[in-house]
Amino acid sequence: MLLEPGAPVVIEEIVIDPPGPGEVLIRLAASGVCHTDLHVKNMKGMGMSFPILLGHEGAGYVEAVGEGVTTLVPGDPVVIAYRAPCGDCPACLRGDPRRCWMALRAKQRIHRKNGGDLLTQVLRCGTFSTHTVVHHKAAIKMPKEMPLDKACLLACGVVTGVGATLNTAPVWAGARVAVIGCGGVGLSVIQGARIAHAKQIIAVDLSPTKLEWAKKFGATDVVNAAEVDAVAKVRELSGEGVDFAYEAVGLPKCIDQAVRMLAYAGTATHIGLPESNASVTLDLGDMDTGFYWNKAKLCVCHCGDALPSNDFPLLAQLYLQGKLDLDGMVTKTIGLEDVEEAFEMMETGDVIRSVILF
Ligand SMILES: [Zn+2]
Ligand SMILES: [Zn+2]
Repeated sequence: MLLEPGAPVVIEEIVIDPPGPGEVLIRLAASGVCHTDLHVKNMKGMGMSFPILLGHEGAGYVEAVGEGVTTLVPGDPVVIAYRAPCGDCPACLRGDPRRCWMALRAKQRIHRKNGGDLLTQVLRCGTFSTHTVVHHKAAIKMPKEMPLDKACLLACGVVTGVGATLNTAPVWAGARVAVIGCGGVGLSVIQGARIAHAKQIIAVDLSPTKLEWAKKFGATDVVNAAEVDAVAKVRELSGEGVDFAYEAVGLPKCIDQAVRMLAYAGTATHIGLPESNASVTLDLGDMDTGFYWNKAKLCVCHCGDALPSNDFPLLAQLYLQGKLDLDGMVTKTIGLEDVEEAFEMMETGDVIRSVILF
């Protein structure tokens, strides 16, 4: 947990109230360590109240269910979703839950044993913990044969990247695709494009290591943007630009590049988390690559625009069929006491995912 802004994470004992109506208590088996947890730490809590329980890529077993929960029983293996559509907002009411901006949450039920303060669970999850309480609709049942130390990855990075190619800007068979940024999310975009039968997948990054990873996960071409003009190179490799460009970095420059590397009527998708004061200027009028004359489209993807109850079981199936590589995405398995070290490795960029095993 994070006790105050700027402090390193600490491990403490917690006390958990029983799950309330519609809630479930989960015993965690594994949790991925995602960049967003690091962001929360580096950005002094991102507006959340302290103390904060980090972690939002968790998988485990239902240990107890609250009143009225009929869809889950103790022992069920689940992945925790931080998006569980509310059923009540204008998007849900018109039958479009992928555009829901709310998420069902449990009441705060986790306390510090020392003093009793309630913990704020990151993204309503809080998975850097042996146990957590979430809304039952945020606990997505997994097939029995799905290993939970891999299933946890589905919850954030993988569903975000694959979902961008299946939900936000669906790749068609035979499409030309570019992916800017080849961390955990970018590699998942590459996998999604491969699963959707793209004919060309061009990976762009500054790191030779990440470009090697990209090839392993399905990139057909790689471009090192530290060495060449990425837009010119992608346009050259694809003939006239790509049908889909996904940026998984969050830097304005990368969004601009994604738009300018498109073929006529192509679609760029912005996935990476931007800084709070970020802005981008798009060229509108260039006859070849300008936003207007090139008839470009720009989308934003939040968490793969996922519908977890539908998408998590689908992704688990793709893994079990050997079509989605999760094994290769786990660089390191660690203990709860290694979270600070995992954050440091993330800053240096030599890790796709560290996974905490409980
Ligand atoms: Zn809703
Ligand atoms: Zn995440």
